[in-house]
Amino acid sequence: MSGIVQQRRVRVLLPMNIGAAYDYQVPDHLPVSVGHFVRVPLGPRQMIGVVWEEVLDSNIENSKIKDIIEILPSEPLPEQSRKFVDWVATYTMQQPGRVLRMSMSVPDALHPKAPRTGYRKTNQLPAKMTSARRRVLDVLEGDIARTASEIAEIAGVSTSVIKGLQKSEALTVVDLPSETDIPNPNGNFAIVSLSQMQDTAASILKSQVQEETFAVSLLEGVTGSGKTEVYFEAIAQCLEQGKQALVLLPEIALSSQWLGRFEQRFGVKPVEWHSDLSQGERRRNWRAVIEGRAKVVVGARSALFLPYPNLGLIVVDEEHEASFKQDEGVPYNARDMAVVRGQIGKFSVILASATPSLETLVNAQAGKYTHVQLASRYGGATMPSVEVVDLKQNRPGSQRWISEPLKAAIEKTLENGQQAMLFLNRRGYAPLTLCDACGYRLQCPHCSAWLVEHRMLRKLQCHHCGFATGSPKACPDCGEEGCFKACGPGIERLAEEAEILFPDHSVAMMASDTVTSPRAAAEFVDAMSRGDIDLLIGTQIVAKGYHFPNLTLVGVVDADLGLAGGDLRASERTFQLLSQVAGRAGRAEQPGHVILQSHMPEHPVIEALLNQDAVAFMKTENEARQEAVMPPFGRLAALVLSSTEAESVSSFCRELARSAPHGDNFRIMGPAPAPLSMIRGRHRYRFLVKSAKNVNIQSIISQWLKGKKVPSNTRLQIDIDPYNFM
Ligand code: ADP
Ligand code: ZN
Repeated sequence: MSGIVQQRRVRVLLPMNIGAAYDYQVPDHLPVSVGHFVRVPLGPRQMIGVVWEEVLDSNIENSKIKDIIEILPSEPLPEQSRKFVDWVATYTMQQPGRVLRMSMSVPDALHPKAPRTGYRKTNQLPAKMTSARRRVLDVLEGDIARTASEIAEIAGVSTSVIKGLQKSEALTVVDLPSETDIPNPNGNFAIVSLSQMQDTAASILKSQVQEETFAVSLLEGVTGSGKTEVYFEAIAQCLEQGKQALVLLPEIALSSQWLGRFEQRFGVKPVEWHSDLSQGERRRNWRAVIEGRAKVVVGARSALFLPYPNLGLIVVDEEHEASFKQDEGVPYNARDMAVVRGQIGKFSVILASATPSLETLVNAQAGKYTHVQLASRYGGATMPSVEVVDLKQNRPGSQRWISEPLKAAIEKTLENGQQAMLFLNRRGYAPLTLCDACGYRLQCPHCSAWLVEHRMLRKLQCHHCGFATGSPKACPDCGEEGCFKACGPGIERLAEEAEILFPDHSVAMMASDTVTSPRAAAEFVDAMSRGDIDLLIGTQIVAKGYHFPNLTLVGVVDADLGLAGGDLRASERTFQLLSQVAGRAGRAEQPGHVILQSHMPEHPVIEALLNQDAVAFMKTENEARQEAVMPPFGRLAALVLSSTEAESVSSFCRELARSAPHGDNFRIMGPAPAPLSMIRGRHRYRFLVKSAKNVNIQSIISQWLKGKKVPSNTRLQIDIDPYNFM
């Protein structure tokens, strides 16, 4: 530096992928602080970013540095959020700007909403009264003020009617508050009396919240033990401390029952955060969070990146769920990052599950997490009995999937006026369609995957890229016409069979493509609760936390489905999913029964489900992983390379393989074509890095990749702690 008096400079992080941090000059009139959202010039454009740090030493010339244009009228991004962004970026090996983007996903929200104009009645009536005018005045009965568009919508009039009433002085213009209020949950609204066991658990969790230090608890309780009621107590304590609480739920958009229970307990709905919100709701909720007005937020994994200034508790419900892992964009595991967020914010984190992940169990056993257990169902409900039907001995017959014993059990249940559920984790009608003449299989033109028939939609769909087509008339390979044959069942086909077997009962299906909105999910829950549905057929979506007291029989059509393939967690996940499905049965007075149809009743997963022995099963899993030095006893990272140009990606992979480092405590495997070797027309290869637990796997990867130039048509995705091996 050359002795020139320098103006104050700050580094601004921009929410973009590469080269996201730039230095800017702070004009004298702008009271810029670290954390402020600011508008800055970037080349010919302007962008909004966050002031990340002061620049104390810089050798860039003054003339090259541009001025910050303005500070946006929002609370600053809290320090904890900034630390969290940096931490996640380092851990996941992603650009910090990319992670920041997840924290400022609603740019609109950086401006307060423009004040709104409303209309209120005067005590004057218009000279001329029409029926439209009457309706408007009725809508404003009780001295309420509303916006013109609201009035127009409710009264079914055009806004000119409102203007007319204003002219004749029957209405007057008023200013409405710009932000809609977020009602405060009240921890004392409806106190639930807990059982002795629940009370003990709740006291531990509450005292951790009260201490306001970092602590993690595993809340493990069998399905129906009242985990939700118990962690509600911790939330009430958090409100007592004057802090914000966050609950992460898988499938939050479909969790109308959960939202209802929260409202019963706390008097108001929590603030929601998920992809089904409107743009207006997003901006309102984001702003309520950063201003600390949102006291309890319930959301999908992305809610973790909201800018909480005052977070005091995170609950991760169903912590074992693989859906907390994001594979695209910034790959992160929201459960693990919730723990990190707790560490940064010095507050407590509760991981709740009936079937905790091995990772979490190991941490609990090592004493890193407090293990809080609920060993039995609430209110005297018993655990369901489990039976395995060996499909080798009880063949359902050709093109049939419901065995005789399962059929008899459903019949009996329905005759008793109770409800039954069939579980099959496959959407559509059939997972595979082939030509009966030559054996040709209908495949997606863009992916190495079969097309799934959706008969109700009259379509064949690719479940990887969304490609859809009608059924071809003739076989594309041999030209034979009318020769296609559906292979295997999806839930549509199962429903067809059920309708034949139980013609006098109402059968309904539930899958992510039949229940697509929060409203549809709520309607389905109502129909089920009213008893309008006798036999429910569903995919994993029905396994999620629902409580239907009259549902007493659960049939798992293909218990072996998740066990195929080489996925590290295949057994663990199947056990968790089927335990959760089974847990829907007999949650009230009437005892429940579960039937598992399987071709391999002697498989450890099926045996563990039959004996309801999670402890023994997880112990065996634990030993197997320990032996193989697999997570959580070793570390994994995946590198997925993809390109539309097959040659370019494979030659870059060869280059990487040649320079792969070697070491005693880590190993690099690959490249191998990914099991899904093509998605959306991109050829995919994978490397897997495996290391001992105490090794910094990120630094191995960054040294390996140093100086390597990824060809412009090739994408490299680094996935630390991968869950998806496709
Ligand atoms: P889990 O999440 O452990 O499967 P839930 O929290 O859904 O269990 O509880 C199962 C059912 O028991 C719910 O309907 C819940 O309202 C009820 N319940 C649990 N604990 C209590 C309690 N202390 N008082 C009243 N109802 C309770
Ligand atoms: Zn496809």
